[in-house]
Parts: sequence; structure tokens; C-alpha cells
Amino acid sequence: MFKIIKRSKKSNARVGLLKTAHGDIQTPVFMPVGTLATVKGMTVDNLNEIGAQIILANTYHLSLRPTTERLEQYGGIHSFMNWKKPILTDSGGYQVFSLSKTRKIFSDRVEFKSHLDGSLKVFTPQNVIDHQRRIGSDIWMPLDICTPYPASKDDVRKDMAVTNKWIKDAHGYWDQLDTKSLFFSIIQGGMYPDLRKECVSEFKDMGFSGFALGGVSVGEPREEMEEIVASVTPELPEDKPRYLMGVGLPENMDFCIQQGIDMFDCVAPARLARHGHVFTKNGKINLKNKQFQDDLTPIDDCDCMTCQSYSKAYLRHLLVCKEMLGPILLSYHNIHFLVKMVDKIRNDILAED
Ligand SMILES: [Zn+2]
Repeated sequence: MFKIIKRSKKSNARVGLLKTAHGDIQTPVFMPVGTLATVKGMTVDNLNEIGAQIILANTYHLSLRPTTERLEQYGGIHSFMNWKKPILTDSGGYQVFSLSKTRKIFSDRVEFKSHLDGSLKVFTPQNVIDHQRRIGSDIWMPLDICTPYPASKDDVRKDMAVTNKWIKDAHGYWDQLDTKSLFFSIIQGGMYPDLRKECVSEFKDMGFSGFALGGVSVGEPREEMEEIVASVTPELPEDKPRYLMGVGLPENMDFCIQQGIDMFDCVAPARLARHGHVFTKNGKINLKNKQFQDDLTPIDDCDCMTCQSYSKAYLRHLLVCKEMLGPILLSYHNIHFLVKMVDKIRNDILAED
């Protein structure tokens, strides 16, 4: 299911191949976020042009709209959105805790009110797997509690105990299903490496398809996230893919890949684009700034459709006039930037002697 093609001699970085029911993924990989079965502003053709290999969707959101029942009736998420490559679904644990004003955690379930209409919903470790099975994604994630940052060690430990039991229950359930879909464990433990290592030792021999580091990118300083990545990644089984959840800005890639991370996702490219921010080889710039008003050069030395066709002055004009094409073209560039950045790191590892 996961094969390491090459290990870097300079660091713990590796190039791998992850096989799923909807095709192979070359790692390291950046996964564009398509929460609601759409990567905001991007058509499936756009994503294919850019070379996106896999996208993310979200179980919490999709279970509420269009609903899991509908997606199952329609033949699954792939045919509904016309995306033929792999899809990873996040469980929605994070959304239960961040979007729902009322939620109650029990040892075997979480009850919450939909952020859309206030109706009462229940997630259990098992029914979250069922949602993902019916949605039809290729990589499934377990229900977990995302502890806010900062949190005391005791609080983190309490949440971790519940989460770890849920993950084991979910694993048992997945294990007896007849499915080609992969199932990842999530390593929690906040900013406490010893707690994280406890999680790893509980899960490493259970037969998960991969391992995700959760509870990062929750407001902690970058150095703390990097410390966790550096101390926990080496503990993870070598022969399984490692996914760093919610992390994937240009400044994160080199460091995390060198520690042995294989998969990234980040909502920032589209969010930043909506505010006029774009990535360049020399850092982030804000196209709304007046200095770009008469700048007829492209955003960057970049072969994406946006940079090949439009100038900064034109893109700024679209943003200033609040034309919807503005954020669309900027998203295209930003997602292209991250996908290509990780592709280049992967190719550099392959080109090492
Ligand atoms: Zn570009």
C-alpha cells in the first residue's frame, strides 16, 4: 500500500508511493483542501492542470450538506464532483469542536448541534467511519478531540485518553469491513512530546494504513510545531505514510519533509487569495497594495495559468473592484505554488546521488 522509493542521504526525507482505490499518490505531496467537495474557486480541470494528486474533503460538513445519504445515493463523492483521483476525508472532529456551540462528549460518542440549523447530531467512532464509507473517500480519518492551544498537560492527557479509545474502536470497526479504503491513526498529545510518544507506542503495531499528527496548526508558534514534528516523526513506523494535518505553508515544507513528513494540507492558499495575498519565490505579497497599481509584470516567474496570462496590475484591479475572478486567479496561483514546491522537493530527492 505504501512503498518507499528513495530515502534522502541528507535528511530523514523520503519519496514514496501510496496506493489507493482511485490511483497512486507520489509523496511528499501537498493536498488542496476541498471541504465541501470543491476546492474553492477551482474546477476539476484546473486541479488536474496543476497536477494535484489528491484532495481533502470533510466528513462533518458533507454529512450535513449535501448529507451522507445523498452522496451515497449519487454514487459517492468522486462521481458527484467529477474528481477521479484519490480523496482523503477528515473525520470532522475538529469541526465538531470548533463550529458547534453546543456539544457534549461521552466516553463513546459526541453529541452536537449542526452549525447550519441547530439540529442534534451524534458522532461515534464507528458512525464516522460509516459516513466516510458512504461518502466514498479513499483515506479515512478517525473521530478525535482536538484540544485547544494552549492546554495544560492534564487536559491534553484527558482528551487523549478519550481520543485513543475512540481510535481503537474505529480501527476495530474498519478492520472488519470489506473495503479498499485506507485508515489512518491520529497522534494527539498537544505540545507534549512524551504524550505524543505514548500515542505512537499504543498505535504503531495495530495495522493502520498511515499516521497523522493532529492538534498542530491550532495557533501555536511555528517553533513549537517544528519541535513536535522533529521529536515525534522519528518514532513513527518507517513503512507507513505520515500526514501533518493542517500544515502546508511554503515556510513549513523543507523542514517538515526533512523530518520525514509525507503529506500536507492547508486551507491558507485559498483563504489568503481571498484577501489578496499571493506566494512568490521571495515571500508573500499583498496584491491590494498600491505599489502594484501600474505593475504590468506577472506575480512571479511561474508557469501557472494566472502568471502566464495576467499582470499584477490587472489582478489588483479585479480585487479592488471585488470581481469574483480575482480570488479565483489568485487561488489558482497559490495552490499551484504549493503543489509545485512539494513536487520540486520530491524531484530533488529523486535526483540525489
Ligand atoms: Zn503563478
